Amino acid sequence: MQVPLLDLKAQYSTIKAEVEAALAEVMESQHFILGPKVEQCEKAIAEYSHCSHAVGVSSGSDALLACLMAENIGPGDEVITTPYTFFATVGAVSRLGATPVFVDIDPVTYNLDASQIESKVTSKTRAIIPVHLYGQMADMDVVMAVAEKHGFVVIEDAAQAIGAESKGRRAGSIGHYGCFSFFPSKNLGAAGDGGMIVTNDAKRAEKLKCLRAHGSKPKYHHKIIGGNFRLDALQAAIVYAKLRHLDEWTADRQQNAKKYDQFFAEAGLATDGGGLGNIGLPKVVRERHIFNQYVIRISRRDQLQAFLQQRGIGTEVYYPIPMHLQECFAYLGHGVGAYAQSERAAKETLALPIYPELSEAQLRYVVKSVGDFVKTSLDSASVSGGTASELVGPQSRC
Ligand SMILES: *Cc1c(COP(=O)(O)O)cnc(C)c1O
Repeated sequence: MQVPLLDLKAQYSTIKAEVEAALAEVMESQHFILGPKVEQCEKAIAEYSHCSHAVGVSSGSDALLACLMAENIGPGDEVITTPYTFFATVGAVSRLGATPVFVDIDPVTYNLDASQIESKVTSKTRAIIPVHLYGQMADMDVVMAVAEKHGFVVIEDAAQAIGAESKGRRAGSIGHYGCFSFFPSKNLGAAGDGGMIVTNDAKRAEKLKCLRAHGSKPKYHHKIIGGNFRLDALQAAIVYAKLRHLDEWTADRQQNAKKYDQFFAEAGLATDGGGLGNIGLPKVVRERHIFNQYVIRISRRDQLQAFLQQRGIGTEVYYPIPMHLQECFAYLGHGVGAYAQSERAAKETLALPIYPELSEAQLRYVVKSVGDFVKTSLDSASVSGGTASELVGPQSRC
């Protein structure tokens, strides 16, 4: 059996007619840059995110960059964020000449440990970028409390979390800005690059619209320096057509996560479930986790990944090198051990297939294969005189 990490064709086959009709409409209009299709998409995403404004942009990366630019963040400024994220979060900060300042992650949710933010505040701090990793929101109560106390701007990196909720509030609607990505592997993917910024602040929305068009308003009058950060009408039309299916896809992802939890527990593989007790399963601590990824923890991660690949199961490591250890950020001067939980997560986590169209048989096959790997490990351990706990790590989960 084959179980790819993601099967975009399976989804496309269910919405082909709608997407083709949306594309045909844009082609007939020959209106490709901004315009009514982008506005329609912006309005729908604003509503979906419980925000009053949305600004379509060229990618999630550019969304982050434009928000920082809108706040005039640059050299001499510090921005607090997590080292355990996709590169774009931190790259946006450093591209503008500002300094990323890291707080380590909470090992249970993999999101930044908000209780550590205050200890990183200096006279140079300007903003906080919490990332809602894998589709579950960071602790926004604490992030906002620190930000309000000091007057910091909060930019939510919600690239993996469209529709996620905490205490009834949607990802992107709590901070001053929320950034979404329509990269094809995100829960709401375009047919290429695209992104959106949501905000409840009309002035900020206005400035972002100016920034995404080279800072011009009106045309050829440049008050500020922006860039070409526009969302294409074709991409907007696709995103808009797909949005009406998003809740159904999210429910399927959540259902798949529940089934994994159940099958791992039944196989005696979950840490909390006793038995072999080796696999750290994702923990849902906010009420709406949208499962962009279903990420498990196991100490022999690389061996498991290779084993699953042989079985036809696609997996991915998000992310193998935390940002503070990236070559391009060596100038920040952080060594190995600086952010221990992020480094441990980078060694132990593995994302399993979780996309909506997976069948129960596929989910069972993945769990069975993980179980076979653990058994093989235990057998070879008893031959070589080792113990199970040496192989799988007694603290493979906090
Ligand atoms: C995908 C992603 C981005 C960047 O989005 P792009 O649209 O690919 O530029 C930023 N942050 C996180 C956490 C992401 O997962």
